[in-house]
Amino acid sequence: MRDARVRPDTDETDVLIVGAGPVGLTLALGLARQGARCRIVDRDAGPSPTSRASELHARTLEVLDAMGAAEDVLAAGLVLRVITFISRGRCVARISTAGIDSSFPARLAIPQSDTERILESHLAQAGVTVERERELLDFVDDSAGVTATFHDARGERTAIRAGWLVGCDGVHSAVRQHLGLAFDGEDYPGVWAIVDARIDGWACPPGEVFVFLGRDTMWSGALPNGCRRLYFRHDANTALPRAEEAQAVLERHAPGARIREVVNRGAFRIHRRMASRFRVGRVLLAGDAGHVCSPSAGVGMNAGMQDSANLAWKLGLVVAGRAPESLLESYEVERKAADGVALSLSHEAQTDMLVSDAVHDRALAVHLAKSTAQMLATEAGVELQIHYRESSIVAGVRDGMRAGAEAWPAGPAPGDRIADAGPLVPVAGQQRSLRDVLRGPHHTLLVLAGEADDESRRRYTGLITRTMDRLGATVRGYLVIIADGPPAEAGAAAIMADPTLSVHGRLGAAADTMYLVRPDGYLAFRSEPPDPVALDAYLGQVFLKP
Ligand SMILES: Cc1cc2nc3c(=O)[nH]c(=O)nc-3n(C[C@H](O)[C@H](O)[C@H](O)COP(=O)(O)OP(=O)(O)OC[C@H]3O[C@@H](n4cnc5c(N)ncnc54)[C@H](O)[C@@H]3O)c2cc1C
Repeated sequence: MRDARVRPDTDETDVLIVGAGPVGLTLALGLARQGARCRIVDRDAGPSPTSRASELHARTLEVLDAMGAAEDVLAAGLVLRVITFISRGRCVARISTAGIDSSFPARLAIPQSDTERILESHLAQAGVTVERERELLDFVDDSAGVTATFHDARGERTAIRAGWLVGCDGVHSAVRQHLGLAFDGEDYPGVWAIVDARIDGWACPPGEVFVFLGRDTMWSGALPNGCRRLYFRHDANTALPRAEEAQAVLERHAPGARIREVVNRGAFRIHRRMASRFRVGRVLLAGDAGHVCSPSAGVGMNAGMQDSANLAWKLGLVVAGRAPESLLESYEVERKAADGVALSLSHEAQTDMLVSDAVHDRALAVHLAKSTAQMLATEAGVELQIHYRESSIVAGVRDGMRAGAEAWPAGPAPGDRIADAGPLVPVAGQQRSLRDVLRGPHHTLLVLAGEADDESRRRYTGLITRTMDRLGATVRGYLVIIADGPPAEAGAAAIMADPTLSVHGRLGAAADTMYLVRPDGYLAFRSEPPDPVALDAYLGQVFLKP
């Protein structure tokens, strides 16, 4: 029976997002760009003015680039180039972020409040406004949809009907609790403090992060407003840290440095937990609602935003009736594994920060002296090495046989992230990079055909055109050939030249090869030689016929 005190909101939607933090906003933006109807609600009256996460990582910047928001965050942020580890007054290791395999700086310092502001403004441009002062009370999933009840600032209750509900409502998620899901893990002992302060007398380059190891550990990062963020142990005291306390910790590590002004401060406990499931029926979890970790590796928000990038295109296809609901099963499988890596990484960083002894210092110095080890550590830290090779929705075919990751000696295996390359020169218009070609809410079909003869060109453009006809706007296709300049004629499918062989090299196309890239930038399908039957079988698994 309907509760008479609850006013039904007649504006039904495909996806209802609870929580307008960075994860909910990223999901809403991704869905809006897919053309899905979505609404996003938050219990707070306005965006949070305080900054918790202070860094965006390379992989997250790639995600934001695909959604058209990277330029704005880059303009508001500060590029961090070096991380220096100091133990007992001596520098024991320096990691440079130069040379990582991404078009974006490894780490960008930007307050979480600025990231949220930029996402919200892009979302508004896409026609979606955050509905504030609506707190989720409960919901019912009746397998045809979800009815969620909210409480507004005037005390009124409203019921919103949606096809799907996604809980992006943070670590104390009401959605997760309502589902009765376990949130197992551990709580680290003690309380930690963050203090953002203007500091005099410390010749600390702005793009440099310092980690002071040991029981008296202190992490010091830079912020774009000229402040430094200090992160240190605060014992069991949950009161806000005082300036004198921060000054005392700072002085022990940087003698002579003086805090001129404290701009932001907070005290928090640290947890490492993950929800037992990320999806139950028509309800899903993303971000802190599903997993939480120590901020010491700076991955919590970044991992959550990547959950949203993974979920947005899948939900977008499902609500458009272009993919079966079973596609959503891959969200939990892929992201639980990736978020598990984020949890381990932050656990290691949290544990390492507290260690300082001669053996540990020397081991760290020896390990990070090798440039390959440095590069691996940096790329792992900014989530460039995350892959979905084990997922059931990625596939490879080589010479007519199913091919796992080991079958591809060069270039990405199915499930790997596609890194940038280029230039690519179209028949008309400006040259573009691979990143430009892949950017957007669609899948991208590429056939790399070297110096293809006329017959091969006709065959491959036919394959691309048929696929685009079958899938409509959800896929764009291009034939890429090796030529010095713009190809002579377009034919039915777009054709581009790869004059420096950079794209052929990057994708490992030693022979004619076909690649289907997902909207989140990971390789869905690879076949060598391009196998139209295998592609059809793959598409039949992931997509529904229009
Ligand atoms: C001190 C500190 C430093 C950190 N540093 C970093 C860092 O450097 N890098 C990093 O990647 N991560 C960092 N993190 C973690 C990061 O802040 C979180 O991972 C991130 O905020 C998670 O985003 P979210 O959108 O999932 O949740 P949140 O940001 O918590 O947003 C949840 C939203 O849901 C709303 N909400 C909650 N309940 C309801 C309800 N019942 N109804 C309606 N709305 C509701 C809330 O008002 C809120 O707006 C740090 C965290 C802390 C505490």
